[in-house]
Amino acid sequence: MRRSRSIRIIATLGPASNTPEMIDALHRAGADVFRLNMSHGDHGQIAALYQAIRDLEAEVGAPIGVLADLQGPKFRIGAFAGGPVMLREGHRFVLDRDPSPGSHDRAELPHPEIFAALKPGQRLLLDDGKIRLKVLEVGTDRALTEVEFGGPLSDRKGVNLPEAVLPLPPLTEKDKRDLEFALGLGVDWIAQSFVQTAADVAAARDLIAGRASLLAKIEKPQALRDIGAITDIVDAVMVARGDLGVEMPVEDVPGAQKTIIDAARRRGKLVVVATQMLDSMVKSPVPTRAEVSDVANAVFEGADAVMLSAESAAGDHPIEAVEVMNRVGAKVEQDPHYRTYIDSVRPTPDATSADAIITAARQVAQTIKAAVIVTYTTSGSTALRAARERPAVPILALTPRQDTARRLTLCWGLHSVIGEDAHNFGDMVDKARKVAKHQGFARTGDYIVVTAGEPFGTPGRTNVLRIAKVLDSD
Ligand code: PGA
Ligand code: MN
Repeated sequence: MRRSRSIRIIATLGPASNTPEMIDALHRAGADVFRLNMSHGDHGQIAALYQAIRDLEAEVGAPIGVLADLQGPKFRIGAFAGGPVMLREGHRFVLDRDPSPGSHDRAELPHPEIFAALKPGQRLLLDDGKIRLKVLEVGTDRALTEVEFGGPLSDRKGVNLPEAVLPLPPLTEKDKRDLEFALGLGVDWIAQSFVQTAADVAAARDLIAGRASLLAKIEKPQALRDIGAITDIVDAVMVARGDLGVEMPVEDVPGAQKTIIDAARRRGKLVVVATQMLDSMVKSPVPTRAEVSDVANAVFEGADAVMLSAESAAGDHPIEAVEVMNRVGAKVEQDPHYRTYIDSVRPTPDATSADAIITAARQVAQTIKAAVIVTYTTSGSTALRAARERPAVPILALTPRQDTARRLTLCWGLHSVIGEDAHNFGDMVDKARKVAKHQGFARTGDYIVVTAGEPFGTPGRTNVLRIAKVLDSD
């Protein structure tokens, strides 16, 4: 399952895509990682989706990534009786703690802490800021508001309170239950929502205890201020533009995107650009030109992955949305400007033998026009260092560990293959040549560049660089 692009695609699963057939079709179209949204669906439904992904993985014989996204302290309204309602400007709208279905004049808001913190005159934003309510009166379980910006409102839309100060725990009780459940399933990545500080991600990291990789969603201005310390602790960060664009002025988001990508690439951590990338495709089979430019921009910036949310979870054209991302990724990476932009962030190597070998491998591969860099990696760390270099040749990551192969699916340019570690020098070159050829990365007569750690079978000591020529007998 070789992809014709280095950038990776994450597709969120939801009502529009929660069957084995759709998961298969999305993967064929280009989805490398599937996001399970813990905000929606019960554990039984999530387990069924997880199983469908693993069944597909076994069928295609290539690793597929699964990312479980914890809801975090995200506030949502309740459900409505007969589908979406219309909120009209100037009208009154009540938020209360009555769990019965809402109507055009009231909805449930099941968060007592909001009623405790809200003050008259403050604003509540619904559905990523599309609807704005001004608080007129507030009690312990009821707030009377006036609609300032109206629009259609449907079940369980998000609520942001940019003006109220709320005490937010790093993980809610629901997050902790969902986390254990997701880790029990065997997901590869955990996404933590509404991170505010490095202490928040450290708390999640401790609970995960190595059972999955950790991604911090950067969706609050506080997290942006602490971006270096947060990125140091996690394995990946996400430019979560949906909530970020509500919590701070929208015009600040493009700069924030650059800041977050830069922080991640310098540290060799992964970075995902997310939300509204092809938003019009929720309804339309073709994207707007501006959306195509937005996806292209993320590719030029050197992001590891781009993500689809509603487009694949609840839209009318999930497969087409993945196809568009797939085509834009492949095309931009062939563009003459691509190298100039991608090489504009060239992180300096650390003083480690792995970085020394990896930077040399990139140089050697370029000089001899190698077809591929084959890197032996146990934990995945050498492969990540190789990808951080953003080389112009593909990288094949050979790992004995299935969990490593799965986690690496989120990383730019890595093609992971599960296989036994090498036993000696001859074996190392032999296996690398054969895998490169069989996976379609090299043909007879092509050069390949191989990196490994000797003594073989000991993780964490990449210290060997070899050039080999693919043989007819491979
Ligand atoms: P969400 O996160 O889709 O879980 O809200 C992404 C974002 O806020 O952009
Ligand atoms: Mn969000």
